[in-house]
Amino acid sequence: MPEPLTAGELLALDKQHVWHPYGPMPGRVDPLVVESASGVRLRLAEPVDGVAELIDGMSSWWSAVHGYNHPVLNEAAQQQLGRMSHVMFGGLTHEPAVRLATRLVEITPEPLRHVFLSDSGSVSVEVAVKMCLQYWRSVGRPGKQRLLTWRGGYHGDTWQPMSVCDPDGGMHALWSGVLPRQIFADAPPTGFDAEPDPAYVAHLRELVARHADELAAVIVEPVVQNAGGMRFHSPAYLRVLREACDEHGVLLIFDEIATGFGRTGPLFASGHAGVSPDVLCLGKALTGGYLTMAATLCTSRVAEGISRGEVPVLAHGPTFMANPLAAAIANASIDLLLARDWRTDVKRIEAGLREGLAGAAELPAVREVRVLGAIGVVELDHDVDMAAATRAAVRAGVWLRPFRNLVYTMPPYITGDEDVARICAAVRAVAAAG
Ligand code: PLP
Repeated sequence: MPEPLTAGELLALDKQHVWHPYGPMPGRVDPLVVESASGVRLRLAEPVDGVAELIDGMSSWWSAVHGYNHPVLNEAAQQQLGRMSHVMFGGLTHEPAVRLATRLVEITPEPLRHVFLSDSGSVSVEVAVKMCLQYWRSVGRPGKQRLLTWRGGYHGDTWQPMSVCDPDGGMHALWSGVLPRQIFADAPPTGFDAEPDPAYVAHLRELVARHADELAAVIVEPVVQNAGGMRFHSPAYLRVLREACDEHGVLLIFDEIATGFGRTGPLFASGHAGVSPDVLCLGKALTGGYLTMAATLCTSRVAEGISRGEVPVLAHGPTFMANPLAAAIANASIDLLLARDWRTDVKRIEAGLREGLAGAAELPAVREVRVLGAIGVVELDHDVDMAAATRAAVRAGVWLRPFRNLVYTMPPYITGDEDVARICAAVRAVAAAG
């Protein structure tokens, strides 16, 4: 074993050599060095402002729904490690993948029936788009190759997903001239409980109808637009899209990479609307945040359409497709989620967030406080200084990652009431500091 690096050495090497998400190179700010994580606590290698342990308010970007170092997931990983950590999926198959695919078909809405297991959320969106484009080519409608989405969305950082991210100053606006040209509807009016706006409904219907001949699919994040602004909208718009897509022969993709596995209340956010997509993307909490794995599910109609084509296969096959270790952990994570009854946890956290964040609404710079399921958001009237905001949360003993004008949290489902209250206090502190 090499000698452990001191925190100072580690940070110097990190800045020189290691890219971070949306980071410059060389690095300019010191990331916090995490030594270990257990339950809902992240342990720092060295205390920062006297704080050595942080309550995780982020679930590592929606993924660690059971917290960290969970004995059940550890056991599943160890058992599978003893058998095989990876094997190619071309020409071979294995029990963890078959069990997982079958389980996903059981727990997702009908008529989703076929599962492509890939290695990240962005890739699952690539696969979803490829499925839809290929479907239309295969059934003799090669002109249907574009996507419609609504503004304010986020679907990942690879090429097709970037093309359906928010085009208005969003994270990938730099590439707007070279990405595939997609069709953008206005962002849905906000408010989960708001009555659907007839003018917006008409706008959606009109766009789908007008572009039907060139549209392969509509792709949206159901109920929560996540990294594009943490906005909630009425489930009614999902029903409108379903109807418009059916009427005009367009496929519908739901990207539930962030919202899947109970985060908004029902197991999948589309459950709020009671509609099912033709293609569904899952990731993040699929493995309880343990390993990188994602899934794209589609209906028999889509799969059979592809199989009728001139190239009757889906030409996609990543090296780490259906990784057995990740699949075994995903199976254990789904069992754990259903056994714990995530609804009880999510409802309890929702109540804690509503109570704990209510006071933030009185702060001068706060534009809105919103809570849905185990998601709490405080929207400010100005952008935060990210480093200062993160530091303020750390001083309150909590890990948060505010961005733009949003201070938000989506804690692990195992977070206890006292820790939820501490997370809310940290969110309020950041919002108050501006
Ligand atoms: N889609 C949504 C809705 C997401 O929230 C994300 C990630 O935040 C992605 C896609 C991309 O997933 P990944 O980061 O695993 O590639």
